[in-house]
Amino acid sequence: MVIVMKSNATQEQINNVEKLLKDLGLGVHVSVGSEKTIIGVIGDKRILDDTPLEVMPGVERLVPIMEPFKLVGKTFKPESSVIDIKGVEVGGSSLVVIAGPCAVESEDQIMEAATFLKSQGVQFLRGGAYKPRTSPYSFQGLGEEGLKLLAQARQETGLLIVSEVVSNESLEKAMKYVDVLQIGARNMQNFDLLQRVGRSKMPVILKRGLSSNIEEWLNAAEYIMSEGNYNVILCERGIRTFETYTRNTLDLSSVPIIKEISHLPIIVDPSHGTGKWNLVTPMARAGIAAGADGIMIEVHPNPQVALSDGNQSLNFDSFSKLMDEIRKIAPILKRELSQ
Ligand code: PEP
Ligand code: MN
Repeated sequence: MVIVMKSNATQEQINNVEKLLKDLGLGVHVSVGSEKTIIGVIGDKRILDDTPLEVMPGVERLVPIMEPFKLVGKTFKPESSVIDIKGVEVGGSSLVVIAGPCAVESEDQIMEAATFLKSQGVQFLRGGAYKPRTSPYSFQGLGEEGLKLLAQARQETGLLIVSEVVSNESLEKAMKYVDVLQIGARNMQNFDLLQRVGRSKMPVILKRGLSSNIEEWLNAAEYIMSEGNYNVILCERGIRTFETYTRNTLDLSSVPIIKEISHLPIIVDPSHGTGKWNLVTPMARAGIAAGADGIMIEVHPNPQVALSDGNQSLNFDSFSKLMDEIRKIAPILKRELSQ
């Protein structure tokens, strides 16, 4: 439920409502809008049945939340969330670029990628250390060794680190080395993992499940937020359809839909979204044009020899061109991209 305060409600009246809710043991989220203040209530609202809430001074009306999710929704928090990750904002006016190889393969590979990406104005280095591969015989990642190499790349370049967690064990390890956790498409409905990531309070990129609809995706985000972690960034990475020309069908309509119903930032991953390197740049452009807050791109120093996802990885030259194009598009959408 949310409580809409009158436009002329005083700060004291807002405080009184907040106090009543907190005294009843309910969680409170106050959103101060340009016209009205909205107070989101977390917890069992039946506790409020015998209270004078509805007639308290300054209260305009009580609105039940009809959607199946709550904390992720715009009804609960009308203003967009901006997530601050060590000084880099996601969801604000600047676009973020997260780039790097699918998997960390070696010190040389990750350092070469990191040094290049830093020179391109990228803020986040991505690289999988724990790879949830479709086949058990494919390269599974370097594990903790890979995380250490990512931390070394951060040390040398200042790039912030994003890496995927697939289990409780990998989460415990990743928390020591990375700045942003990633939950991959295959684990989007691993509810135990979602809750543990929620309790970690670390920023998290939640990818859309391979065959998940938007409601299921937002409910997965709700699992993380219901544990008190509001630092959630959604990532559209394509869904399974009957089309086989591309690896997945990149559902860019989810970007404006998420912007309409949720306050969470959303980024687009055209690498997994298409599976083909030559489609990555056009779909990155389209993602930004659709209103995404950033992009995640797989980049490899030599895609032909990549141990995973080489077909969809850009080489350095193609990535530079992509950045040039994004820089031209950003101002049309009133967004900036760091140089
Ligand atoms: C990845 O980012 O390398 C990855 C495995 O992505 P997804 O979970 O979207 O398939
Ligand atoms: Mn990949």
